[in-house]
Amino acid sequence: MQSEKSLRNTCFREEDKQPSESSWKKFENVFNYELLPYETTTQGSKKTSQFLLEVVDILLDYIKKNNDRSYKVLDFHHPHSLRNALGPCLNLDDDPKDLEQILIDCKETLKFCVKTGHPRFFNQLSTGLDLIALAGEWLTAAANTNMFTYEIAPVFTLMEDIVLAKMRDIIGWPDNNCDGVFAPGGAISNLYAVLAARYRICPEIKEHGMEVSPKLVMFTSEYSHFSIKRSAAILGIGTNNCIGIKTDSKGKMMVKDLEKQIEKTLASGAIPFFVSATGGTTVLGSFDPIWEISDIAIKYGLWLHVDCAWGGGALLSKSHRKLLNGIDRADSVTWNPHKLMGATLQCSAVLMKEKGILEKCNSLRAKYLFQQDKHYDITYDKGDKAIQCGRHNDIFKLWLMWRAKGDSGLESQIDKLMDLSLYLQKKLRDKEGFQFVINEPEFLNVCFWYVPKNVRYIEKGCRRDALLDKVAPKIKSMMMETGTTMVGYQPLGDLPNFFRMIVSNPATIPDDIDFLLEEIERLGEDL
Ligand SMILES: *Cc1c(COP(=O)(O)O)cnc(C)c1O
Repeated sequence: MQSEKSLRNTCFREEDKQPSESSWKKFENVFNYELLPYETTTQGSKKTSQFLLEVVDILLDYIKKNNDRSYKVLDFHHPHSLRNALGPCLNLDDDPKDLEQILIDCKETLKFCVKTGHPRFFNQLSTGLDLIALAGEWLTAAANTNMFTYEIAPVFTLMEDIVLAKMRDIIGWPDNNCDGVFAPGGAISNLYAVLAARYRICPEIKEHGMEVSPKLVMFTSEYSHFSIKRSAAILGIGTNNCIGIKTDSKGKMMVKDLEKQIEKTLASGAIPFFVSATGGTTVLGSFDPIWEISDIAIKYGLWLHVDCAWGGGALLSKSHRKLLNGIDRADSVTWNPHKLMGATLQCSAVLMKEKGILEKCNSLRAKYLFQQDKHYDITYDKGDKAIQCGRHNDIFKLWLMWRAKGDSGLESQIDKLMDLSLYLQKKLRDKEGFQFVINEPEFLNVCFWYVPKNVRYIEKGCRRDALLDKVAPKIKSMMMETGTTMVGYQPLGDLPNFFRMIVSNPATIPDDIDFLLEEIERLGEDL
């Protein structure tokens, strides 16, 4: 594989030429069937070790580059040119490839990967590469088991129990009476919450379907994650029956509007049943007032969900958990350890206050998997409460990382990020040409416009907005072409495109923040 374009920015190191290529030569004309489990001789076992050690070397090399600022964050190519360059190398043929080629394939694949663990990668809510979590993921892959029954995942099942109980304890629920499951991401965790809420109000739907359903209506802030609305689509509730509640100038749900919409729903004869409060919105990082929302939920008998997929980690910090004040009054919580806590992808938990609700809502007792006459305590078979059959082991890496850091290590990781967010905010205040979307952001999302000189003195209004709308996408495209750093942008409501800086990478230090802002100025100055 040859990259079509050579790297332009010479202050950055070129990717190395294959340093270990010579040692790979010994895998020329060696094929997969010469390794375990096909070749069980001493020779087969030795080749297996040698091969895997080479793979680990390649991975270590990548990890080091992730942490080395003299390497770029990415080597961007447009899809068509990457396809032209790599296409022929990606084909699957009738002939097997030898293990030398397989090693080259691993190395070349990583070459074009975006270094999401790089200290200057700010593009997503999940950034960074935690090495203990990575080690956990490697073990998970080697153990290669399924989470659906205790019989094939005994240790991991116990770990799941312990970690879910710990998370519920941190939320502030009494443990002996609660429930939860690890799901493939926050979007699915949110789906679980809506599903359980609907089960509570109308359990007959499980067997009889939508024809027995009254008209149900749910509520969430207009800035909540799209997966809440999509749950309404998936579950046959309908997106029109997922009402977006207005937000205030800080992007927080307006409780008055929530109550108004509930009253309106009741007046129409429909049944309000669910409200989701967001703990750290995806764009602005706003925290809905959970306590006040829970008052309304109690008054009208609604299920209260807290989607803190992003902000959940703040619960681990004594100084910052007040952002989620009232969360113990929720019926369910979505919390993604793969975001703020830094576990590797993916790792998301949905926690429920009512014990057994997931089981009641989802179980079908398939006889080939969840036999009721097993010789052990079958309450340890967790699979039948999930909406999946097979479930990936997402627990081990989280458990291992939590062991290695302790509550205190995670707390200081989160406190440090909050300090870094304040550092960025101060920088933005001191510099000319930068403007906040909301003043004094309370979390790790720092949203701002860069206003180039040519736009700076234009009066506020449509013309200025139209010009400003083009700035962030233009800077981002140049940023990706040079590959030095990455940060996201988007519009919001009527607001023109702005940068959404996410401070969630534990590798980042103040210098990297300076670098980002200087890079934006350098690229955007003359726009
Ligand atoms: C990221 C996010 C989600 C979705 O989580 P995935 O793991 O990407 O599915 C849901 N809600 C909020 C608030 C989020 O920030």
